[in-house]
Amino acid sequence: MGEGAVTRAQRDVTAGEGFMKKLSDFADDINKCSKCGKCQEVCPVYKLTGNDCAVSRGKFVILQGVLKGELKLSKTIEKYLDLCLKCGKCKDFCPSDIDVCEIFNTAKHEYVKNRPYGKITRFLQSSMVFNKILNTFQKINGFFNHQPLKQIHNDKKIKLLYFKGCANTINPKSEIAMKKVLSHFDVELIEQDFECCGVPFLSSGNLERYEEVKKHNIELLKGDYNYIITDCASCESALKDYYKNTKDLNEPNIINICHFLAIQDKKFIFKKHLKVTFHKPCHLKSDAFLKPLLSRCENIEYIEAKDYDECCGFAGEFAIRNPKLSMKMTKQKAKNLADTGADVILTACPSCIIGIHQGFLGKKHSKIMNIIEFLARADKIIQNK
Ligand code: SF4
Ligand code: SF4
Repeated sequence: MGEGAVTRAQRDVTAGEGFMKKLSDFADDINKCSKCGKCQEVCPVYKLTGNDCAVSRGKFVILQGVLKGELKLSKTIEKYLDLCLKCGKCKDFCPSDIDVCEIFNTAKHEYVKNRPYGKITRFLQSSMVFNKILNTFQKINGFFNHQPLKQIHNDKKIKLLYFKGCANTINPKSEIAMKKVLSHFDVELIEQDFECCGVPFLSSGNLERYEEVKKHNIELLKGDYNYIITDCASCESALKDYYKNTKDLNEPNIINICHFLAIQDKKFIFKKHLKVTFHKPCHLKSDAFLKPLLSRCENIEYIEAKDYDECCGFAGEFAIRNPKLSMKMTKQKAKNLADTGADVILTACPSCIIGIHQGFLGKKHSKIMNIIEFLARADKIIQNK
């Protein structure tokens, strides 16, 4: 564990309701909603269901009722809160710039915290249970194939701190690929004892555990690094969100590994001509790296899929709470990707990979993988002349 990291004992003392906002703290934001309906135009769930309770505007009407004491948080309201992909598209288009996801997560937390679901979730997601499961995976994977990148200390090297998400702890495919690719670059890759980024805790309303991992991870993110890199869009977005509304903390340079590779001067040589397409995960802040990076892949042809940046429809808890809707959305996503005729479907989030597989269920399909896994399959990685 790195210097300054928070120990489990300290976390247990500091974690708790002290950090957390209440629904009433968001009254001004909720009241900022002008009911303009712009969120309806972009919300993937509203577009499919036509249900106003699926989109921010409808949810805010309900939450205003709760804050005024006219409605009580209930199972039905929880159902509407769960009818949301947490894709953040409505926030990007909202003229009032309301941080919808934070409000929905807080409302969910207030409803579930004293109910059996909340108590069971808190137990399963506690460091005692959750980390034990991850540690078991880590040991199994380490036994088979987890080769750490050789650490060479050299002041000229670019220092990269790797944030390894839970998906990589369970299945380290993209971590192994990233280390293989980075062995061709003049970098020092540093690893720390991070916890989960917190996304699964947020969406299940376990804000106590979210605050715990956030505090732990922020300590480990401090340091003299050129970049903090991730290979998971959700982790990248979660880490950036740690620094929202924090005046006393500067956000470190957090980027997807592909952003880093896109600004380096290397070429990826593929002997065989391949057509690729791309699904942009909702949590990927920017895909500006995609075209520059693929243009440096010899023999690779990129075909843009219809609605390539629309949510895949999986979104973790959403798929569990709304299986029929999730299936419909993932099937549409799989169709759009398959229609390109691509040999390989690329994305940048392990959860989206599961979602796209779900959409293809039972059908023959192209290979689906994280971009970094694809780059690791290049026959050669050479200096761009
Ligand atoms: S776009 Fe924003 S202000 Fe407009 S209805 Fe939706 S949440 Fe309210
Ligand atoms: S976060 Fe996404 S799914 Fe949820 S209300 Fe906004 S646009 Fe709709």
